[in-house]
Amino acid sequence: MAKGTKPFTALEKNILKAKGLTAAQVGKLAKAGVKGRGDFRTVGDAATLASLVPGLSVETAAAVMAWANGAGGGSGGPSTGSGQGGPVVVESAEVVYCVHCKTKQPKDWKSGDLCVNCGKEAEPVQVCFWCNQTGPGKVCRRCGTPFVPAEDVELAAQLKREGVAKDEIGPKLARMGKPDRDALRARAQKYR
Ligand SMILES: [Zn+2]
Ligand SMILES: [Zn+2]
Repeated sequence: MAKGTKPFTALEKNILKAKGLTAAQVGKLAKAGVKGRGDFRTVGDAATLASLVPGLSVETAAAVMAWANGAGGGSGGPSTGSGQGGPVVVESAEVVYCVHCKTKQPKDWKSGDLCVNCGKEAEPVQVCFWCNQTGPGKVCRRCGTPFVPAEDVELAAQLKREGVAKDEIGPKLARMGKPDRDALRARAQKYR
């Protein structure tokens, strides 16, 4: 198990099943050494994952990897190199899978392009916590702020109110434990 990896929670196991894994395949993942979500960073790509679990299709593996590399996978900004097991950016993070049909986008696909298979926005549309602009991609096109996961936008906006520097907000949220997040959420709700 990779350093700092937490074992799969019941929710994460259910998500894996929702992505198409059988219970037996979830067990085989653990046998292969993939014991927590962080271990998918070591696996790296869908083809490797499929080869670790007998009977797992590449499509299912791709859906799992898209989930594992998605929300919570880090702010996308350059690592500060604190050595605290911060977000690790893997090469496969450059691979984009359509949020609607899970189709892998070609190499010349650019942020903002439509899906080559279904023609919808391949990337989720994000809200910038800093300037409220919406758009696809990893970074706000108006102000250059890296997007945070949708469920963290409210928390990030609260950190902005509290005077945290723009570039600090994503990394700070990524480091926050549940008690700190809950306290922050409670403060944010006063502004609703
Ligand atoms: Zn699509
Ligand atoms: Zn912005």
